[in-house]
Amino acid sequence: MSAMLLALTGTALCFGLCLVLVGGLRAPRTRILAALGLVPAAGACVAFTSAAFELQLELLARYANGLAALALGFAHAVVFSLAALPRERVWLRGWMLFSGLWAGAFGALWIFDPERHLAFDVLLGVFAVATIASWIALPFATRERGFTQHGALTVPSVRFACPRCGTRVDWGRGVAACTDCGLFLHIAWPAREDAPAKAAPDVERSVRFSCPECGSRGRWNDGLSTCSGCGLRLSLHWNVHRTQR
Ligand SMILES: [Zn+2]
Ligand SMILES: [Zn+2]
Repeated sequence: MSAMLLALTGTALCFGLCLVLVGGLRAPRTRILAALGLVPAAGACVAFTSAAFELQLELLARYANGLAALALGFAHAVVFSLAALPRERVWLRGWMLFSGLWAGAFGALWIFDPERHLAFDVLLGVFAVATIASWIALPFATRERGFTQHGALTVPSVRFACPRCGTRVDWGRGVAACTDCGLFLHIAWPAREDAPAKAAPDVERSVRFSCPECGSRGRWNDGLSTCSGCGLRLSLHWNVHRTQR
């Protein structure tokens, strides 16, 4: 493959990273992380593109790879911050998140500094292995089971992004807390017949998830909603007030 094609592949990959990071800007929890990651990601896009069309290939390509490694670390952290982990395995998040962030930072330093140090190489290797292991584990750890553990109880659940922090959570029927920011949310289906309906649903306060009865995907408002597919009545409530952390 020619150097130009290789550099253009780099541009495409970094553009993909930019898209992941822009997605991270939407969730309050990853807003800063995503903004920081966009700097090297955009830089790498520019560096790869100019490496493809200009003469100083070697130097530019070195910067491009280093910036891409840094951006990859941030994109990894965004993905792992928002991934839905089962309540009992949420402690894994910190390990998975930081291994990728550090692997990206160390990888960038490794590319920028041509001198080799054994201790540094070992450290980079450890973080790289932990990052790869996290990616292999991700599809298994985030598989939607349709239930969640509330202590010893198994409760049916629905999955949607926490309205406060943006992390995806499996919310158990009844009262459930966000696995990451602790927001309390009440969700019940079928809703009680005497549940009061709101006069005007607030579009700002709604979330998207699949109906627990028929599986059709839709938007559910804070308050009482009815599934357009099967007519299931579902009530959903969460607290608006921001709590200090
Ligand atoms: Zn939350
Ligand atoms: Zn339904």
